[in-house]
Amino acid sequence: MTRLVAGNWKMNGSLAANRDLLGGLAAVPGVEIAVCAPYPYLAQLLERPAGVMLGAQDVSEYEAGAYTGEVSAAMLAEFGCRYVIVGHSERRALFGEDDLSVGRKARAALAHDLIPIVCVGETLAERDEGSVMAVIGRQLAGVADVLGVAAMARIVVAYEPVWAIGTGRSASVAQVGEVHAAIRCWLVEQGVAAGTVRILYGGSMKADNASALFAVSDVDGGLVGGASLVAADFMTICRAAGVRV
Ligand code: PEP
Repeated sequence: MTRLVAGNWKMNGSLAANRDLLGGLAAVPGVEIAVCAPYPYLAQLLERPAGVMLGAQDVSEYEAGAYTGEVSAAMLAEFGCRYVIVGHSERRALFGEDDLSVGRKARAALAHDLIPIVCVGETLAERDEGSVMAVIGRQLAGVADVLGVAAMARIVVAYEPVWAIGTGRSASVAQVGEVHAAIRCWLVEQGVAAGTVRILYGGSMKADNASALFAVSDVDGGLVGGASLVAADFMTICRAAGVRV
């Protein structure tokens, strides 16, 4: 399947910085590339290099109306978004999102033909106590409860161990391989047509470790935070995703 590399800019950027960054991005054959920008910059990103798709970092679970501060899936679709991250660990930890609200956000996205990138992953304490797949299974089950089994085939899953995000400490290839295989297995067990569900890895993916991570089976792309803010690094990661071993 075609790999997807999505850059999560988080709450970074400015009109000038984005212009510079975009100037360094280009299509890579055989790889889908997306940048998930803060909402105010979606208009600026209406013009972007060919082959670079647009995404957002969150979406409202509501359709429209009296929800001050929220941004709807319809609005994101109108600005050309193809992807939207839902359930990022920062949103779960800092903004009180839970498994079912993440599911409702994914449902709102799908209703407007946006592809939700559903983030799952364990904390270090959860890994240490041996509950990695219990946590991820619970997170995915929350989404499946809302979406139903058939629609689960339309999402992208991003495995992002919380302890690897922004820490410079990526999960090992063995850890990534084990969890990605277990996620696909979990999906199959639930009856999801999981063969085409892309499972991205995220967590300190950098120019110098991307090739090793993409060589792991069941790694169908990457969700890239810090390194997506440096065009040369992000492009190195995108090119690594295009290499098939
Ligand atoms: C992220 O925020 O999704 C992420 C993976 O961040 P970083 O690459 O900086 O660890």
